[in-house]
Amino acid sequence: MTPRTTTNVGIPVASDDESLTAGTQGPILLHDHYLIEKLAQFNRERVPERIVHAKGGGAFGELVVTGDVSRYTKAKLFQPGARTESLVRFSTVAGEQGSPDTWRDPRGFAVKFYTEDGNYDLVGNNTPIFFIKDPIKFPDFIRSQKRLPGSGLRDHNMQWDFWTLRPESAHQVTWLLGDRGIPKTWRHMDGFGSHTYQWVNADGERFWVKYHFKTDQGIEFLTQDQADELAGSDPDHHRKDLYESIERGEFPSWTLKVQIMPVADAENYRFNPFDLTKVWSQQDYPLIEVGTWTLNRNPENFFSEIELSSFEPSNVVPGIGFSPDKMLLGRVFSYADAHRYRIGANYAQLPVNSAKAATVHSYSKEGAMAYRFNAPDVPVYAPNSYDGPHADPAAAGDEGLWSFDGSAVRAGYIQHAEDGDFTQAGTLVREVLDDGERERLVDNIVGHVLDGVREPVLSRVFEYWRNVDEDLGKKVEEGVRQGSDS
Ligand code: NDP
Repeated sequence: MTPRTTTNVGIPVASDDESLTAGTQGPILLHDHYLIEKLAQFNRERVPERIVHAKGGGAFGELVVTGDVSRYTKAKLFQPGARTESLVRFSTVAGEQGSPDTWRDPRGFAVKFYTEDGNYDLVGNNTPIFFIKDPIKFPDFIRSQKRLPGSGLRDHNMQWDFWTLRPESAHQVTWLLGDRGIPKTWRHMDGFGSHTYQWVNADGERFWVKYHFKTDQGIEFLTQDQADELAGSDPDHHRKDLYESIERGEFPSWTLKVQIMPVADAENYRFNPFDLTKVWSQQDYPLIEVGTWTLNRNPENFFSEIELSSFEPSNVVPGIGFSPDKMLLGRVFSYADAHRYRIGANYAQLPVNSAKAATVHSYSKEGAMAYRFNAPDVPVYAPNSYDGPHADPAAAGDEGLWSFDGSAVRAGYIQHAEDGDFTQAGTLVREVLDDGERERLVDNIVGHVLDGVREPVLSRVFEYWRNVDEDLGKKVEEGVRQGSDS
């Protein structure tokens, strides 16, 4: 027998067919509280859209550690043989809810590990780098990639205006306009922690670390034409692909690897290792295998488990810490703040966000939608004489601190020997891409620029690409001039 419908507090309802009216032609009566509840609830079905990474999808899975990185970190989830439940949310960055999955954009690659020391979030992208290196530039960057205030339209002139006035973007823009700028599916792309983090081992020794999730499905991409067609015919292409592959029992997996840099190397490394617009060459710091990360379970409810999921780079567990990467330090503040606005002060109490393998003993209390509470005899303040929770430096371990001088400055990153806005972008073009990839890169840039970029931005676009690579810059200018004449 099907269950009977009730109100939100379990009272049987009389009808889902007719509202209560005064006579057959009379007004609807305000005391039809079930009707009021139904309409009011409907009006409140959405939470605010994420300002970035609004459109996405995700799944649950597991990390199984197959390597041995215990001499670099004591983090329990990375010890040999450890198995940890995990959640991922993939996304585009600039597109709104409902926008096509195949727009050219970096993809968010936000991973949560439910560890016995609390939840560890690694909130990365499918690229190892980013457009900017200081968080004070982030709101301007995002506004330039979204929509014009008057028409509400996206605008390539605005995008290139920002990129060319911020040449530190060159490495990420080269990557984005190359083949890997539109993955075939989320299963066919790599993920990166992108930032430099700190690992601390059981002896208190520190290392700088970068995370790489290498896809076991192989890298595959969409050409601009294929992506444009799918944007019309199948806008949820990536969300659907992930869901259906897991339903079929084809569980996508990635091999988690890390690059490790001894702390003593950082000062003299040829690139500033904390600058998010740079990678560490794998020739200098080869990838070390950590384990296999597999997605094997779809959400039961997209809204509750994916839309309301919250990832925050501030969630690090003992054995893992931050670094002088300013973008990371900015995100450590802004993600949790975004969740408090979007979902509410008690977002961490929602089942998908709450600790699963650890027990929460927090002095946080009350606030909108508070769900969890301590036993009545647990004090609401610390310190106390009544066995309330106490901070335990030994359990928290080394928080991954580093030394710095105390003077307040507004200054860029210290320039290392081979730093420069265009150096690694040039290496990517000349030493990594093959002829076909270089040709498609030129075509993608030309097509993008022809769609609305005008002077004075246009001249700066040509200079930007000449700075990346002389030959590439020449071809871009020729292509754009030809395209605008035809
Ligand atoms: P390596 O030759 O050791 O590595 C080249 C890297 O480039 C590999 O990770 C490769 O990924 C990746 N790659 C291949 N094709 C593309 C593409 N179309 N778009 C983006 N990345 C691609 O060289 P280095 O480590 O010294 O780095 C050289 C350049 O490679 C860097 O300047 C950077 O632009 C790029 N790169 C470097 C990464 C790093 O962490 N060091 C990561 C990604 C890119 P795969 O093995 O999956 O083919």
